[in-house]
Amino acid sequence: MSGATLLDGKATAQRVRADVAAATARLTAGGTRPGLTVVLVGDDPASHVYVKNKDRAAHEVGFLVNTVRLPADTTQAVLEAEVRRLNADAAVHGILVQLPLPKGLDSARVLALLDPAKDVDGLTDTNAGALLTGGVGLVPCTPAGCIELMDRHGLPLAGKEVVVVGRSQLVGKPVALLALARNATVTVCHSRTVDLAGHCLRADVLIAAVGVPRLVQGGWVRPGATVIDVGINRLPDGSLVGDVDFEPARARAGAITPVPGGVGPMTIAMLLKNTVVAAARAAGVREAGLFG
Ligand code: NAD
Repeated sequence: MSGATLLDGKATAQRVRADVAAATARLTAGGTRPGLTVVLVGDDPASHVYVKNKDRAAHEVGFLVNTVRLPADTTQAVLEAEVRRLNADAAVHGILVQLPLPKGLDSARVLALLDPAKDVDGLTDTNAGALLTGGVGLVPCTPAGCIELMDRHGLPLAGKEVVVVGRSQLVGKPVALLALARNATVTVCHSRTVDLAGHCLRADVLIAAVGVPRLVQGGWVRPGATVIDVGINRLPDGSLVGDVDFEPARARAGAITPVPGGVGPMTIAMLLKNTVVAAARAAGVREAGLFG
């Protein structure tokens, strides 16, 4: 048995949700019930499952929840009109357009229309810009979940060597910026990186967001390092694995996230947190006291 701490995303997400529920109760008592609307276009089975889970989680914390379901043949104009309507609806504090959209719909144009103050996925250019400049915005949920998971386990980032594998807009880049904002020394690796193993071996905190099963080998983990595995990969036998070869990595790590049950549950929890923050800002409630 290794001594690595298992970073339990399920239990941690539960604690975040409890804090969100308490903040929701306070806001609601003050006359603002946080409202989240999910826009789901088409019949992609995976999207339906994701939306169902988000819907349930949002109900559980006390939000006013609404799912707008549109058929797969919805036109760009109809979808954009729907987003404009939700932008203008004062009872809606968070809007989430479930991606990917069916073929023929332009998600970039839809995101460009979304009110950044209601962009609880943190995907608009305005919110990406806020991350870069340190301005007030809404942070993408998965990267925020990685940081929250470390925060809640007392794992500091300041002064640490953080190595991020993956440079996607959704995970790699934003998580690198968040770590930088916490005064970490950050290296971002990607598919063209020479000597990936060498970079990983320097990491105090290794964050993998690639989408290649078990790419990061146990021997690439510096003894005692924190390993955050964002990857969710389905193998031919139906099982789920991360981007890190878990058992050998666990034998060397100081702390590690499992897959499933690590970063995944944190993503929805951070969506809920963003929605409460958006509702508080809309109501002019100070964020500082929001979470107790
Ligand atoms: P992406 O495909 O957009 O980006 C992958 C990144 O990995 C790219 O920047 C690419 O340069 C890099 N890469 C690819 N092959 C590489 C290699 N051999 N060596 C080094 N780098 C390589 O993926 P994404 O959206 O960032 O998602 C990454 C993984 O995280 C996927 O498995 C996805 O399912 C998972 N994910 C999980 C959550 C969650 O809630 N836990 C959320 C989003 C994504």
